[in-house]
Amino acid sequence: MKDLTISARFIKGVGPSRLKLLNRLGIDTVEDLLYCLPRRYEDRSMIKKVAEARPGSFETIKVKVLAFGDRTTKRGVNIFKVAMGDSTGVIHATWFNQPYMKDRFKIGQELILHGKVEGRNYLEINAPEYEILTGTKEDSAHMGRIVPIYPLTEDLTQRWLRNLMKIAVDEYADSVVDMLPYDIRKRNDLIFLKGAIRNVHFPVSEIVLKKARRRLVFDEFLLLQAGIAMKRARAKIDLNGCSHSAEGALIERFKKALPFEFTKSQSKVMREIENDMRNPKPMNRLLQGDVGSGKTVVALYALILAVQNKYQGALMVPTEILAVQHYKNINAFLEGMAVKITLLSGDLKPEERARRRHMIETGEADLVIGTHALIQEGVRFKNLGLAVIDEQHKFGVMQRSFLKSKSANPDILVMTATPIPRTLALTVYGDLDVSTIDELPPGRRNIKTLYFEEKNREKAYRIAGEQVKIGRQAYVVYPIIEEQERSDLRAATKMHKELSGFFPDLKVGLLHGRMKSQDKERIMKDFKDQKIDILVSTIVIEVGVDIPNASVMIVEHAERFGLSQLHQLRGRIGRGRYLSYCTLVADPKSDDAKNRINAMLNTQDGFKIAEEDLEIRGPGEFFGTRQHGLPELKIANILRDRDVLEVAKTEAFELVKNDRFLRSPANKYIRQGLRKKFSLEELKLADVA
Ligand code: ADP
Ligand code: MG
Repeated sequence: MKDLTISARFIKGVGPSRLKLLNRLGIDTVEDLLYCLPRRYEDRSMIKKVAEARPGSFETIKVKVLAFGDRTTKRGVNIFKVAMGDSTGVIHATWFNQPYMKDRFKIGQELILHGKVEGRNYLEINAPEYEILTGTKEDSAHMGRIVPIYPLTEDLTQRWLRNLMKIAVDEYADSVVDMLPYDIRKRNDLIFLKGAIRNVHFPVSEIVLKKARRRLVFDEFLLLQAGIAMKRARAKIDLNGCSHSAEGALIERFKKALPFEFTKSQSKVMREIENDMRNPKPMNRLLQGDVGSGKTVVALYALILAVQNKYQGALMVPTEILAVQHYKNINAFLEGMAVKITLLSGDLKPEERARRRHMIETGEADLVIGTHALIQEGVRFKNLGLAVIDEQHKFGVMQRSFLKSKSANPDILVMTATPIPRTLALTVYGDLDVSTIDELPPGRRNIKTLYFEEKNREKAYRIAGEQVKIGRQAYVVYPIIEEQERSDLRAATKMHKELSGFFPDLKVGLLHGRMKSQDKERIMKDFKDQKIDILVSTIVIEVGVDIPNASVMIVEHAERFGLSQLHQLRGRIGRGRYLSYCTLVADPKSDDAKNRINAMLNTQDGFKIAEEDLEIRGPGEFFGTRQHGLPELKIANILRDRDVLEVAKTEAFELVKNDRFLRSPANKYIRQGLRKKFSLEELKLADVA
């Protein structure tokens, strides 16, 4: 067995300067090199002749250089053209403003071209990828087979890197340590790691390439899931928390006071939460459900359980507006019941803040509702029994653990309106159990989604006007982030003026993040009391706001919002029994922006939206970088490789179930792999180090 942790410099042909270039690709050791995977492949066992190239498609063609030359246009653009061909025809390759290209070719040279072919009689190919063939034995790594195409950095050529890979694979692939025990490999029909490494670089066929990739994806997922399994196992043996019983007068009164019946889904997740809360082990649960699926009332139910059991409950929300709304609703719900509720938000006067903190500390306050202020230094609970975090995508994991540390071991319930399929949720939110509300309360989702170009925005306004005429209200939202510059604010202020002019007879209000709390509160109250017909707002109303009479949501510059955000905004309407209109005003330029708008027009299902969003943005951005403490995936893709994720997860959990610290000799290499991905702290593996 050769040592793979030696520097890549030990491979023939790699000197200090080339090593530096490899470093740029993240390659240090021989092992790094073996795991630097191709970004795509070219099937050069089926290279085409010029006459076979179809205009409009990407083709790989073998040609000879016939002639070349460059010229400069009047505007100073340098155009370099190479005529190339074979016995069947000629194709012209063009490069713009790269005059140095002419030093790269010689007449009579043989090359492989890859690119999009254009034209009909006169075939062209713009700035193709190309490789000059040498006619030596070396060409066999580059010709007549499925050829790997690697990510490059400046000054490295595809051919050089491929040669290097060939040497590395030939010399070292047999020395990789296969971490998988025989039975796991057998059960899941996985090939040996050696073969996987060989074939992911130089595949003998498409089928074997698939198997090779599947093996590598499996390994990556297995480590990820084993890490998660260990974290969860650890959470389960954690210190004791509080045990809440589900029976009592308070909870009965609460149920009676509700103006509606719980949906089946709500009841199901309430049972799950109840069971967790009854158990003295701390709950760590994620509650996911589409916008408007009724998560708040479920959270409230859990909070009341805590209060009934003489514990304090805390509800943390991302915006002040939402904190105030919850505070009011909960007060109304609990009227006449002996529950003391306190609101803790950002800009309280110092004395008032001190007073409320004192109430929390002495236990005089039963329920605490607040924004980030809740987790700021200095807030102490007397006996926090349950912390609920609403719209958790707005908070990081750090804040979650912060709230946790305020008291012994409270139960934790986090909620998100960006629901994703269960398997994914379990992966991404690793240490949390997952409950899902998968239906909406009856009589919902009468929302029509429409799209208007900028120049037709008045059509959107007209819909708003008509709706106000029949008693409804409208939101007009601008893509301004609270913390942003004044100049942006001016845009919303200006739009407020403009709309006031457009609707001289209507009351148009303005709401933005820079307003004082009292002003925000007053505007929201006026809107709720229907003293305002049209509310012009920044995205401060993105989440949670619940005003059932509002039936129009106009999103200006919709191209600037993310997909989940647009869906959240749409969730502000269609909350009552009225037919509602979500109108997106936009001139989308990029494909992504167009895809987002199309997704909004095509579906109202939050699960589909989240998945689409995940697809468009990629997991890194969708979930926030390392927000959930997940190691980065290099090969696997949690969406596309979902089936492998599933089996890897089953195996990983089984492994950890039977060998909690992966101490057995059979699992030695898995444990080693894990320690490369997770920190000891994360896994609490210090005892096995
Ligand atoms: P979200 O899941 O987006 O937080 P909310 O909790 O704000 O949703 O609920 C949306 C609206 O639906 C609220 O007005 C709430 O009172 C109402 N609601 C919740 N559950 C039910 C139900 N079972 N039947 C009817 N209306 C409900
Ligand atoms: Mg909500």
